[in-house]
Amino acid sequence: MRADKQLPNSHGYFGQFGGRFVPETLMPALDELETAYAEAKRDPSFWAAFDSLSHDYSGRPTPLYYAERLTRHCGGAQIFIKREDLLHTGAHKINNALGQGLLARRMKKQRIIAETGAGQHGVAAATICAKLGLDCVVYMGEEDIQRQALNVFRMKLLGAELRPVSSGTKTLKDAINEAIRDWVTNVRDTYYLLGSVVGPHPYPVMVRDFQSVIGKEAREQILAQRGRLPDYIIACVGGGSNSIGIFHPFVNDKKVKLIGVEAAGKGIRTGRHSATLAAGTVGVLHGAKSYVLQDDAGQILGTHSIAAGLDYPGVGPEHSYYKTIGRATYVAVNDKEALKAFQLLCQTEGIIPALEPAHAISYAARMASPLDDKRIIIVNLSGHGDKDMDIVSEVLGVSL
Ligand SMILES: *Cc1c(COP(=O)(O)O)cnc(C)c1O
Repeated sequence: MRADKQLPNSHGYFGQFGGRFVPETLMPALDELETAYAEAKRDPSFWAAFDSLSHDYSGRPTPLYYAERLTRHCGGAQIFIKREDLLHTGAHKINNALGQGLLARRMKKQRIIAETGAGQHGVAAATICAKLGLDCVVYMGEEDIQRQALNVFRMKLLGAELRPVSSGTKTLKDAINEAIRDWVTNVRDTYYLLGSVVGPHPYPVMVRDFQSVIGKEAREQILAQRGRLPDYIIACVGGGSNSIGIFHPFVNDKKVKLIGVEAAGKGIRTGRHSATLAAGTVGVLHGAKSYVLQDDAGQILGTHSIAAGLDYPGVGPEHSYYKTIGRATYVAVNDKEALKAFQLLCQTEGIIPALEPAHAISYAARMASPLDDKRIIIVNLSGHGDKDMDIVSEVLGVSL
């Protein structure tokens, strides 16, 4: 069954979180998107295309893998790894880009715009646009363009047009502002392909539905392999899409504990982190009400993480809701701990993880030790570490 729980409500609220905090000029575009998605969601042929390309193009289903040597190393609960790193383009972001690309085509919008921080979502969007024959414009902060030269080159190879953003801190949040500005101006022929479960309604629910394929597979796979549901599911949280994707099909299974892992960066007390749920307050960012890292005047704070994909001052409204009602728990892991877990997974399992899910691996390893070996933990490995070789070698003091 497709993810079809009663939340969000018809105005896009998960409890007090979510909604639409956008300029009036964007409301018709969001209404149009909401209607188109509601129709697509009811149309079996839409999901048939999604499933077929997920299989043939993206490489689904991804394995649920029993990490035997990591489990033995930790000496406790059994650790399973959901291998989203094996997908085409190396991460879960392709699930969302594919779903929204198909929706844009169905809406007959030929021009796609996207924002990107580290470039991972930009690459996924450019990939799907090439595959579906759509035009792709990617907004990216000048600072990020400097830092992520390889992804910039990839996007160009894939045929996307890159638009550098020089406002503000010249990073992701400024790129999002610029993409929204473009959308307001060109709304008739343009589709805004947002990269996570953030933004105004219906993006958080739509992106969640596309990413829920992760949790649906994991549920079937653990039942087939162990005959029961897991005790814990652990995933890293940037905007929150890979974590919602694996959490959501288990939300009504009250015995399954859901744990989101944010980036504590250099430590929460230093202020140099991206732990929005652990250290933020309720506010509005990029069109939705949620937890936000902001100062007393409501200005968005600078963030830091060794993992570029976690380096965002907001989080999806559904996570804020789960935190408030206690359905999920949110913890934070710092740069050093993530780097140690990165090396641990390389050496125990022969898997080089992205730095983002290395945060989740770190917490899972720590948690597994005191538990007995009947307990089952599933960790979502959201992406592969190839993209992080520069930063890891630098931190380890190795010159390539
Ligand atoms: C972008 C990214 C993330 C963070 O985004 P979410 O929306 O929180 O999933 C995590 N892992 C990888 C590999 C990423 O590329």
